[in-house]
Amino acid sequence: MQVPRSAKGLKFVVLGGGMVGVCVALEMQKRGAEVILLDRDDPGGGTSYGNAGVFARSSLFPINNPGLLVDLPGLLTNTRAAFRYDLKYLLSNLAWASRFLLSARKKTFQETTVALDALIRLSIRKHLELIDACNESARLSDAGWMFLYRDIGRYERAGLLRTTLGNFDVDTQELDGTALHDLEPDLAPIFPRALWVRDSYSVNDPAALVKAYAAKFTAQGGKVLRSDVRTVSEDLDGVEIVLADGSLLKADKIAVCLGPWSKDFLAKLKMSVTMGFERGYHMHFEGAQDGANAKILRRPIYDTQGGYVLSPMTKGLRLSTGVELAACDAPGSTAQIDLAEKAAREAFTLGERMDPEPWLGRRPTFPDSRPAIGPAPTYRHISVAFGHQHIGLATGTGTADVLADLIEGKTPAIDALPFRPDRFIRHFG
Ligand SMILES: Cc1cc2nc3c(=O)[nH]c(=O)nc-3n(C[C@H](O)[C@H](O)[C@H](O)COP(=O)(O)OP(=O)(O)OC[C@H]3O[C@@H](n4cnc5c(N)ncnc54)[C@H](O)[C@@H]3O)c2cc1C
Repeated sequence: MQVPRSAKGLKFVVLGGGMVGVCVALEMQKRGAEVILLDRDDPGGGTSYGNAGVFARSSLFPINNPGLLVDLPGLLTNTRAAFRYDLKYLLSNLAWASRFLLSARKKTFQETTVALDALIRLSIRKHLELIDACNESARLSDAGWMFLYRDIGRYERAGLLRTTLGNFDVDTQELDGTALHDLEPDLAPIFPRALWVRDSYSVNDPAALVKAYAAKFTAQGGKVLRSDVRTVSEDLDGVEIVLADGSLLKADKIAVCLGPWSKDFLAKLKMSVTMGFERGYHMHFEGAQDGANAKILRRPIYDTQGGYVLSPMTKGLRLSTGVELAACDAPGSTAQIDLAEKAAREAFTLGERMDPEPWLGRRPTFPDSRPAIGPAPTYRHISVAFGHQHIGLATGTGTADVLADLIEGKTPAIDALPFRPDRFIRHFG
């Protein structure tokens, strides 16, 4: 149980400088707390560095939706860019896997769509304000993003996505091959159908956006400290944080925003976390720049059958893969990015690879595909905000708003119950 109190003058430490942690730091600072942001790396160096850069209303539709059960036999072949898995890892995390599948049932799925829609809408509104306040609008595109279908049958089978987005008034447009060509003339004509999600934005460098938010935090008097956090302990008055060099930092309250690494960290505090790691890779490619014949991608595309997202970024075209279920820090493999590259080259002219090796990220996912936002079970001064699966770049701002309200004992702008940490975090001490 946390004791609610105004954030004014509170000594507050945020563990983790990804999109979520930086937004929590900014929000607590806005409410009058003295905030320190702690990360072993520069802000924006973790999962928030390498994602596809999309802020989309359509992300209210989780991967574990009722259609997943139909697709499962194909996915289990372990041969697709959209989904690969390490069987040993899966068997060692059956509690997560079975509950993830069970959450694809209609009732949980529907509850999740309502919860995520509210979080995403709040977050996008706050991102737009913050991006403007940081003078970062040039990074933002409002051209939406595109779901692409290589055959009409597949498009028709995706009816639940369209109906669900319609139920939430997400602004979409169904396109045939000709209408798609008008919007994305440089795509190969292999997609007879597409769904253009107009209610969405993208950024051309997600890490730069996190850094810009962090710069605003420091310009306003916040402190960024670079250190590995070894562990923390709390007593009645507050929290003691042990840094890598053994030095101690004291705080009235802290928030654990360590993304995928939160699970291992909380184990030190005797908390077990039922969470899976949906890992994913990216690789940048040179665009085909041939004078008047240069090939241009105007917005991120999601090739639903190719199993990849291709996003125009400042560095080049960022190809990111679907899901690889494996242990958080197990070695990476090139298999998934190779499959994605092969499929992407069928759709768009890609130049050379630009990175020496694929970047590997970990999407931390709870069984119901909702993040944990709120007090850590049985602790008075420790809150958590992690488990944002595929949407943590988009939902950092809303997460921070909800968490700060809970810490201050206020009623959050959206229903916070679906995000209660004790859904999947247990204290075993
Ligand atoms: C391939 C891919 C594509 C994606 N595409 C999108 C997308 O288009 N849109 C979207 O919204 N989301 C997307 N995501 C998901 C999104 O990137 C994540 O949900 C989000 O980045 C999570 O942010 P975070 O702040 O929780 O975690 P992170 O960004 O991982 O931050 C955690 C921080 O904790 C630090 N840390 C960990 N342990 C310690 C320690 N012991 N001491 C000190 N510091 C520590 C790390 O250094 C890191 O900076 C994608 C993810 C992947 C992998």
